[in-house]
Amino acid sequence: MSSKIWLSSPHMGGTEEKYVEQAFNTNWIAPLGPNVQGFEQDIEEYIGSDVHVACLSSGTAAIHLALQLLGVGQGDEVLCQSFTFAASANPVTYLGASPIFVDSEPDTWNISPELLEKAILSRLEVGKKPKAIIAVHLYGMPYKVDEISSISQKYDIPVIEDSAEALGSEYHGTKCGSFGEMAVLSFNGNKIITTSGGGALLSKNNDQKDKAIFLATQARDNAPHYQHTHIGYNYRMSNVLAGIGRGQMEVLQNRVDARRSNFEFYKKHLSELTQISFLDEKEGYYCNRWLTCILTPSFEIREKIRLALNEENIESRPLWKPMHLQPVFAGDITFVNGVSEDLFQRGLCLPSGSNLEQSDLTRICGIIENTIG
Ligand SMILES: *Cc1c(COP(=O)(O)O)cnc(C)c1O
Repeated sequence: MSSKIWLSSPHMGGTEEKYVEQAFNTNWIAPLGPNVQGFEQDIEEYIGSDVHVACLSSGTAAIHLALQLLGVGQGDEVLCQSFTFAASANPVTYLGASPIFVDSEPDTWNISPELLEKAILSRLEVGKKPKAIIAVHLYGMPYKVDEISSISQKYDIPVIEDSAEALGSEYHGTKCGSFGEMAVLSFNGNKIITTSGGGALLSKNNDQKDKAIFLATQARDNAPHYQHTHIGYNYRMSNVLAGIGRGQMEVLQNRVDARRSNFEFYKKHLSELTQISFLDEKEGYYCNRWLTCILTPSFEIREKIRLALNEENIESRPLWKPMHLQPVFAGDITFVNGVSEDLFQRGLCLPSGSNLEQSDLTRICGIIENTIG
């Protein structure tokens, strides 16, 4: 059996252990310490735009806190891109609120501005003003930032920018993670850089950062004893894991370059197959190409490729199954146009790790060519 090729595996840069060792040597084995502060600073410098960063235990925790800071609670409604990973939507339900799912447009595969506005108008008509908009840069491709921001302003509904897959992506020269009222990053094991598990909440408002950290550390009031006037969480990032993050930040651009060159390789070698197409960047868009996605003519051909790769010990995955098609969200309100359902039927994510060898990519393309060429 040929060696396993993973969809997206962790890729250490080499200096991570130095930071982790510092944590051990100084006994900062806690959910606070110099690595947490250092990692936050590294992210702040990288993203720019005066963002303030709070490092947390996961991206999901960051979305949960963002919703809470925007005042989302029992009975509220939150607009959410349907074409995404469940972690974008799950935290809405933790707060007793309901997601309202909005379908995608074909140019970026992200939330459709037209449908979003339609959804807002339709909810306003029944006297329900949604509390927030969760927009996602899926697979690292920026959503239509200008259009979504102006809808957010027009109706005074804040955007939570789910940038979990888009660290390193840019929209007209500005880094993803700086567009929403708040933004979210993930450092889960399969993301472009990883701390094995972790996330961050980004805000341009330092008060929001402080409040996020307060809630993430059990909402302890300022008193010598343990005093609480709010419900808190245990969501802060470990200083040991933040050490991994500091090392990973040193190689982030290198990781983006490697994933983008994977995409270029696939595009060059598979474009001859007229059956396979790719999502190109619109002008001014810069995608980190977290995962390279292909579109095939049909579900059957998609499956044929996926199974052929699987047979050769190569992991590939259908594109995200839209939230409005998930059994767990079956009762929720949706605004759909068929785009995400079609992408789910015909799309496949190919192995995209920054640690893939040229020989891996050649092997993968060869199997696809033999299967459908
Ligand atoms: C990974 C991911 C998250 C959640 O991040 P975790 O750190 O795994 O909790 C949220 N949204 C999207 C789009 C993701 O891909």
